[in-house]
Order: sequence, then structure tokens, then C-alpha cells
Amino acid sequence: MMGRWRGVFAAAGGGLLLSLLAGCSGGSPAPAGGKVKVVASIFPLADVAREIGGEHVEVVMLLPAGETPHGFQPKPRDSEALARARLLLTVGLGLDLWADRAAAASGNRALTTLVFAEAVRVEPIKVAPAEVHEEHEAHAEHEEHAHPFGDPHLWLDPTLMKEYTAALAGALSTIQPEHAADFQTRQEAYGAALDRLDEEYRSTLATARIKSFVSFHSAFTYVARRYGLLQQAVLEPERSDVSAGHLERVVEFVRSRGVKVLFAEPQYPRDRLAALAQQTGTTVMTLDPEGNPHVPGHDSYLSLMRTNLDTLAKALECSHAPSSTRAAR
Ligand SMILES: [Zn+2]
Repeated sequence: MMGRWRGVFAAAGGGLLLSLLAGCSGGSPAPAGGKVKVVASIFPLADVAREIGGEHVEVVMLLPAGETPHGFQPKPRDSEALARARLLLTVGLGLDLWADRAAAASGNRALTTLVFAEAVRVEPIKVAPAEVHEEHEAHAEHEEHAHPFGDPHLWLDPTLMKEYTAALAGALSTIQPEHAADFQTRQEAYGAALDRLDEEYRSTLATARIKSFVSFHSAFTYVARRYGLLQQAVLEPERSDVSAGHLERVVEFVRSRGVKVLFAEPQYPRDRLAALAQQTGTTVMTLDPEGNPHVPGHDSYLSLMRTNLDTLAKALECSHAPSSTRAAR
């Protein structure tokens, strides 16, 4: 299963892809002139599918706006959408196994799945934090079993997202070779926008006075690694509750590292952070890992990422403000 797509694109990457496809235009079950039906597990993947596919795709999102993908249960109508689809976009690493299950239930054998975690070059970060291992050193095997996948929030790293959009353009081109040039052009333009986003993150976060942050759940692990920050999550990995021992560690993290802000998330009740904020003398701001097509500033991957960066810049006391740079551009 690993590398299902990686091999295809390694062989047919870049300009070579076009020449290969020019020589084999048949074999696609998509009717001429029809749109490619794409199903995405979560909003950020649906948004980039529309960006890369443009007028040639029809995109359906499985996870309803405002919900968290963790523990989501798809509805019967999701299998109906999957029964008609040609391409399924998932994150992998255990985040959206429900999408794979719904795809299997749809019985659609023509469906291809493009898995983010398999399409990009990344060493997944293990989600079990060091302190958990300290506590359960004698049960290392058990811990391995509890967190077998690594942190799945790969899409919040713009560089990984750019890699994924290249794989996405390749997947769409395989399905609709007649539009391969268009998919490639759109991917290059969007890839350039992702490069600018990465540069905004880099130049802004490099000026952070506070280098550590507390997120509600461990969604920003790859952002932290990419831009030299340290994340501590309030929720323990793979759990919905918080043990007293873990909460103590969070409080210690806040105090020892001068953290001033706790990050709530729109998909979880904000009041769950109120007591911790009061106890530590911090304030609560919101970081959004999922986005929402109905909320301005969260209604595209790029706007979501910039809203999050503005929040990070304030909370981490960055001397370089990203929003003023954008206004001047
Ligand atoms: Zn998450």
C-alpha cells in the first residue's frame, strides 16, 4: 500500500508526465467533457482539489464543516458520493480511516485513493510525547501499539502541501489526460502561492520572542518542526480526556517557557481551556487546523493558514507582522 502513488509520479514526474500522457490518451473511464468526481476526507484537501482541478473537477467533502476528523463516523450518503467518484483524497496515518471504510462500502472499484502521507516525502512524527514514555517505560510495546501511525496533521505544513498538490495534479492527469497541461499550469501557480505562504511563515516566526506554544490537541507538530517552534498539546494523543499528571506538565510548560496564550480550536468547546488559562494567567486565542467553507478567513487553505499565522504572530510576539506585509503587497 505504501508508495502506491509515489512510484507512479517518480516515473512520470515533471515535464515527462506530459509527454507520457500524450502517447496514451485512452483508457480513462471518465466521459469526454465530464468533470472528474473527487471526494476529499477533510476541507483542506477539498479546497486544494478545487484549486488544482479548476473547472474539470466536482469536489465533495466528507467531514462536515466544523467537525473534527478524529473519531468521525461517515453517513450512508457518503458512500453514495464515493460510489460515483473517481478519486478519493485522504490524509492517512489513521486520521481518516473512516473515509477508506466508506470507500470500501461503496463498492466502487474504479476509485483511486491519493493518500497525503504516502504522496509526500516525510518522516511522520510519533505522537506519543517523550513524557508518556517516561511514565510507562516498562510498557514501550503498548505505547507503540497505541500510536502506530505518527501525527497525521501533515497538511498544515505548506511545503508538504505543495508536494501533495503536485501528486494531485498527477493523479488528475492520469484520469483526464486531455487536461494534463491545465492541471500542471494550475499546480505551478498554486505551488508558487504555497511558496509565498511558506516564506511568510518563515520570516514571521523567525522573529518570535516566545518560541513555545500550547495547542489544544497536537495538530501543529509539523508547523512547529518546520519553523523552529515547540508545541505542547493540552489533550494527550489519542485521548479525549486529560490526566492530572499531564495537566501538571502543561502548566509547567507554560510557566517555564513564558507562554502567554493557549490555543483553542473551533472544533472543540473553547471553555475547556478557561480553567487552565485562569490558573496560568494566560489568555485564549484560536488556531484552526481544519478550516470551514462558511467562515471568512477560514474558507480556503491559504486564508486559513494566514489567519493562523496572524494569530501565531500575536501570541508569540513576533516583531515582523505578516498581515502588514500582505497589505503592502
Ligand atoms: Zn487533529
